[in-house]
Amino acid sequence: SENLLEVKDLKKYYPVKSSSLFGKERVLKAVDGVNFSIKKGETFGLVGESGCGKSTIGRSIIRLHDITSGNIFFDGDDIASLNEKGLKKYRRRMQAVFQDPYASLNPTMNVFELISEPMKIHGNPTPAEQKDTILSLLDQVGLKKDHLYRYPHEFSGGQRQRVSIARALSVNPDFILCDEPISALDVSVQAQVVNMLEDIQEKTGVTYLFIAHDLSMVRHISNRIGVMYLGDIVEIAESDELYTEPLHPYTQALLSAIPEPDTTIAKRERIVLSGEVPSPLNAPSGCKFRTRCPHAMDICREVVPPMLAIGNGRQVACHLYDEEGKIIE
Ligand code: SF4
Ligand code: MG
Repeated sequence: SENLLEVKDLKKYYPVKSSSLFGKERVLKAVDGVNFSIKKGETFGLVGESGCGKSTIGRSIIRLHDITSGNIFFDGDDIASLNEKGLKKYRRRMQAVFQDPYASLNPTMNVFELISEPMKIHGNPTPAEQKDTILSLLDQVGLKKDHLYRYPHEFSGGQRQRVSIARALSVNPDFILCDEPISALDVSVQAQVVNMLEDIQEKTGVTYLFIAHDLSMVRHISNRIGVMYLGDIVEIAESDELYTEPLHPYTQALLSAIPEPDTTIAKRERIVLSGEVPSPLNAPSGCKFRTRCPHAMDICREVVPPMLAIGNGRQVACHLYDEEGKIIE
């Protein structure tokens, strides 16, 4: 298969105890039945406001936690319900880089120890082999030889993220979950890290799921992008198409909020959404976006909009469109 990952009807629900005496147990639907796939060597971007479920999807895929239901095919094998023993042979192949490298890098370990740790978990390299590999990884992520015995606190945020990336790469993964890897970095450093991730992909063919809360951060690195709202993916499109012709009203609003540097694209009118994101414990009936949607109709209250495949890999879940992606008059 040309897909490295196929996610089918993935659900992750959390039971939540009500604080009220009379309240019954409620369910937080963090991920509410999502479907998407990622091709080998592709970067799939996942965007949405915080709490929409994008990190939960990422952590589900690399099986940092159990899921409620659904399938996760990794290179053809369903890993959704494997236990730790069954997952063992997949662990090396799926690595992750998170937003805050300071939290994910043990402060008592130096760069050599940090990067050799996963190598020793997943293999049996000699000290000389470890050093050789680590020095070439440091070069690949733009760090210097004499950084080898330094500790996390001696680095800038961007450098620490480079160490995390080298650590992820040290075991030759097929897939790296990049969960907001640039969100905490200075704007000037963000582009450097994105370019580096692109170079690495070109050299190694690694596949990325790249998560961000802002569409401007995923635009250049992603081949395709999924837009999330309250536990659902509401639109999937090629990156360029999503930017030039967003279909879902939520995507349109997200895009209208970021400055458009490309002057060949007409200036978008700013769409200001009314109200707050509803609690995932109390999502609206029908289309979950209807309480904030400028185009909401009667049907949106009653009927959950199905995900329409409208050709060329584009998908959108909105009652405004027919199966060809045309606006229903
Ligand atoms: Fe808006 Fe209705 Fe489309 Fe939901 S289904 S995004 S409420 S028009
Ligand atoms: Mg998150």
